[in-house]
Amino acid sequence: MDKYAVFGNPIAQSKSPQIHQAFAAQCNAQLSYQKILAPKHGFTQALTEFFSDPCAKGCNVTLPFKQQAADWVDQLSDSARLAGAVNTIIRLPDGSFAGDNTDGAGLVNDILAHAVAVKGKRILLIGAGGAARGVIAPLLAQQPSALVIVNRTKTKAIELASLVESANLSAMSFDELPAQRPFDVIINSTSASLDNQLPPINDDVLAQANAAYDMVYGNKPTVFMCHCQELGVPVVMDGLGMLVGQAAESFRLWRGCKPYTTAVLTDLRQALKSEQ
Ligand code: NDP
Repeated sequence: MDKYAVFGNPIAQSKSPQIHQAFAAQCNAQLSYQKILAPKHGFTQALTEFFSDPCAKGCNVTLPFKQQAADWVDQLSDSARLAGAVNTIIRLPDGSFAGDNTDGAGLVNDILAHAVAVKGKRILLIGAGGAARGVIAPLLAQQPSALVIVNRTKTKAIELASLVESANLSAMSFDELPAQRPFDVIINSTSASLDNQLPPINDDVLAQANAAYDMVYGNKPTVFMCHCQELGVPVVMDGLGMLVGQAAESFRLWRGCKPYTTAVLTDLRQALKSEQ
């Protein structure tokens, strides 16, 4: 039986085994998918051990190991190279390992699935951490008219914007955001919602958006989502669809079969709601 896994620390919270078993059922595949808690200083050893089994065909990697995974693999996809981070490792037929980053595809597919356009639109990306880094190239590939990165620590936003050469990409601080030039889609890639905090963004900027996305998800709408709803933003989304979308892309890379995500997302949402 083909073996897959997700490595992280912590990892107990991971929904990936449920998601991948649902995809496997759809594609009539028999596979195992386990959570592996790698020691903070023992990730590559755990990875090498896992892949010493020839049945191990691939794995996902989550915090805090995505950068180390990028160093470990033999080759990187364009999105993984730009992100400097790998969330999907694929064992190739010649025994070498490829690293990809499917977070951006997961985000973009989820936004588009909500009938929210990106092409030709002004997009604001809040945050400049690992999650933001992984979505820049896939967002730019959708040809927005502008992609602006805004971050609490402005230097990080500038650094991130300098990684890609694009006339449509820029960086600024929160107080430089132009209220008179509205953004169509605002994506919160910060971890602020995990602490029940809002990024320090002006309500006038938020209120003019047609859609808002929080990469964080939980058993109820995040503080950012609630705030955007109160301000009247018509479409407000959380990151659960991104999670399922990035998993679907990993599954396709491993097995060549692109699973449907809608039913899996509905079941996961239901299960999440019943969690305390
Ligand atoms: P990092 O630690 O790399 O970056 C955190 C970012 O959040 C930084 O830009 C930081 O700003 C900013 N930030 C944190 N707290 C605040 C605050 N109170 N106000 C303003 N900005 C703040 O984390 P990641 O980028 O890896 O992950 C960010 C979030 O994205 C996580 O919550 C994670 O759960 C989520 N995520 C969701 C995925 C999904 O599939 N749905 C996939 C990947 C990530 P500064 O630089 O100034 O410190």
